[in-house]
Amino acid sequence: MARDSCDGCGRPVSVAGGIANLWTFGEDDGSEGSAMMLEFEDGSDHLLCYPCIAALPDEPTAEDVARLEQIDEESSRLGPV
Ligand SMILES: [Zn+2]
Repeated sequence: MARDSCDGCGRPVSVAGGIANLWTFGEDDGSEGSAMMLEFEDGSDHLLCYPCIAALPDEPTAEDVARLEQIDEESSRLGPV
């Protein structure tokens, strides 16, 4: 399992190894694999923790990712533009 940090809030995250695990989101308590790689419309991709994914709008852009900030261990939000 790779260790990395969220592109949005910068919190340390872990990514469960293997593409199959990308789709097990929600099946555990979050202790194993706490981020997903999201590919955006503009072709960029970003490693984002689940709280950041939850905070993003339906059609996120790289600018939205830049605004993400950590509130606490379990929450993120979009900061001011
Ligand atoms: Zn994050």
